[in-house]
Amino acid sequence: MSSFAVDAMLGKLALWLRLTGHDTFYEADVDDDELLKIANSEKRILLTSDANLHRHAVESDIRGMLVRGSVDEVVVDVFVEFGITPTVDPTKSRCSKCNGELIQLAGTEKERIRDLVHKKTYDYYEKFWLCKDCQSVFFQGGYWRNILEYMEKIEVLMRERMDK
Ligand SMILES: [Zn+2]
Repeated sequence: MSSFAVDAMLGKLALWLRLTGHDTFYEADVDDDELLKIANSEKRILLTSDANLHRHAVESDIRGMLVRGSVDEVVVDVFVEFGITPTVDPTKSRCSKCNGELIQLAGTEKERIRDLVHKKTYDYYEKFWLCKDCQSVFFQGGYWRNILEYMEKIEVLMRERMDK
């Protein structure tokens, strides 16, 4: 599976790559040199909407892709280019905040996150995912529906793109 380094302007793209399970470097305040360095040393594909940065990547033998357009267009372009399936399986997702790996906690393992979420949330949900790195806790709350709906939308757009 490809890993990526995403420029600071493409936070939404980074989010969707992480949710679909891709190791994705993204920091909102990283500068171009730093990003190039990380892409190079960690063999990540550099995704950017900055033509200059893309040119620098190509000149440095870093695999890169110049992406342009709305969030939807960018997500579709990247998913088509790298053969990414628009489904989110939380057992494979990376932490949306820090890119860390997630551990699934169910049944008695839930105990581990008891103090990290509201009591109602703890009682209501069966499964939780804990980030190994930043200790963020995820569960399939109200936003989960938005995630599924967005991936369905992307799937339709990808099909339209490939039919052209
Ligand atoms: Zn994390």
